This record gives sequence, structure tokens and C-alpha cells, in this order.
Amino acid sequence: MSLFDLEGRNALVTGAGSGIGQRLAVGLAEYGANVTILDLAGQRQGSDTTAEQVKAIGREALVVDADVTDPVSVREAIGHHVSRFGRLDIAVNCAGVNHSCSAEDLAPSDWKRVLDVNLSGVFYCCQSEASSMFSSGGGSIINVASMSATIVNRGLLQAHYNASKAGVKHLTSTLAMEWVTRKVRVNSLSPGYIMTPMISGPDWAEKIRGFEEQTPMHRLGTPDDLVGPVIFLASAASAYMTGTDLLVEGGFTSW
Ligand code: NAP
Repeated sequence: MSLFDLEGRNALVTGAGSGIGQRLAVGLAEYGANVTILDLAGQRQGSDTTAEQVKAIGREALVVDADVTDPVSVREAIGHHVSRFGRLDIAVNCAGVNHSCSAEDLAPSDWKRVLDVNLSGVFYCCQSEASSMFSSGGGSIINVASMSATIVNRGLLQAHYNASKAGVKHLTSTLAMEWVTRKVRVNSLSPGYIMTPMISGPDWAEKIRGFEEQTPMHRLGTPDDLVGPVIFLASAASAYMTGTDLLVEGGFTSW
């Protein structure tokens, strides 16, 4: 049990006002961590809900409004975390956006927005998080990529999203190697189809039936399915792992 224990650790989760990030923030608290909940100011209600859930477990929570596409905003957010908790041990970079459009019609502004949030945002977060971890003796960074980093989703028009997630996967192993001697581990977590606000709404209902058929386990994942894998990557249980991509996709990429 102590292998997975996060008692006394201080974590930061981006995109923690909604979906996967919200559940992972609460999951880290369930295993003992205090948590900083970072999301856009427009998600304040969701972030406050996450904070209430963390506090209900008996852990401390800090809500920070920040935009991961702005490196200054990210640095300030990590500064707030360190002022409150003293050090950063675990960072989960989960903020992300998706958007559907054929490659031939994709506007440069949409290409840029998705790459800015999903790839540049992860880089700015890793940079500030690692800098804090270097000065406090190390830590674990987990970047939420996607199985779309590895496969092309049948029927979905999202060249920009897939490229951004492939970038996150390779950025992760590259940073892991740069920082391997400095006690900062960097791994990515790549979910398959997970039921969250990102894939809900009338446009998605028909597609979701297809995803269930295509997934060997014949169901979509839920944010709960990602808690165990993130605790594993955050904790001493994965002490000898860095630069890896952990796929959590109901077997999707095996077929
Ligand atoms: P979600 O419910 O939409 O959560 C994403 C959160 O990130 C939202 O609160 C969003 O705020 C926030 N965010 C967006 N841009 C941001 C920015 N610039 N700065 C700070 N926060 C920002 O989506 P989710 O499904 O939980 O996705 C979480 C992560 O998992 C994403 O990286 C996604 O690509 C990845 N993922 C999801 C699935 C899936 O099937 N759901 C599968 C594989 C990977 P707004 O809502 O205001 O934009």
C-alpha cells in the first residue's frame, strides 16, 4: 500500500475544473495529496467544485485561474502553489481542447489554437513545474496525451488534435531524457475514448456507439478508469519509469 501512498505530497492538476482533470485531482487527494486546481477563469465553478471534493476528503485545495497558453500565467500559478504548499511533487498536465474539421478546410487560427493549448501549453507547464522540482529535489510530471498520439481515430477529422497529442508523447520522452539525472520523472498517460464533456452533446451520440463497437472492451472509459494509472505514475510504484507512454484504452490500439 505504501508504494501508492501520496500522504504529504503536493500536486497540481491543469484542466482540473472539468472531466478527466477534475477526477484526477480528487483521485490524488484520495491517495493523500494536497492539490492545486488550475483551470481557465471561465471554469471557476467547476474548479470550486473540485476543491470542495478535495476538502471533503480531508486534503487541502487551492484554486488558481490560469491559461496554460500563457507562460507568465503558468509561472505565476506554480508560484501560488509553492507559496501555499511549500513544494511541488506531482504535476498532471491535463488541460486540452478538441475541435473537428477536415484538414483541407482547417483555418490556421484553429490549427494554432489546438496546438497552443495541447502542445505549447504542456511545454510551458513542464518547464515551470520542472524548474520548481529541480530546486526542491525532484518530482513526477504526467502529461495527458491520448491514444490519438499513436493511432488515427477512424471517422474523426482532427489532424491538428492528433498532431498535438503525438507532439505531447514525444515531448514527454524528450524532457524525460533531459531531466533524467535531476530526479524529475516525466511520463505520459494516453486515454482512449473517455466519457467527459469533451465528447458529449448531440454531435457525439452516434459516434459514441461506434467507439463502443470499435473498443475491444465494448465500452467507453470513464474518468474513474484513469485514477489508478495516474496514482501509479505519480507514486513510488513507478520510481524506475520515465519517458514512457501509458495507454489506457480498453484494448483499442491492440486491434
Ligand atoms: P474537458 O472536460 O473539456 O476538460 C478540459 C479542461 O481544460 C476544461 O476545463 C478546459 O476549459 C480546460 N482548458 C482548456 N484550455 C485551457 C487553457 N488554455 N488553460 C487552462 N485550462 C484550459 O475535457 P477532458 O475530456 O476531461 O480532457 C482532458 C484531457 O484529456 C485533454 O488533454 C484531452 O485531450 C485528453 N483526452 C481526452 C479524451 C476523451 O475521450 N475525453 C481522450 C484522450 C485524451 P474549457 O472547457 O473552458 O475549455
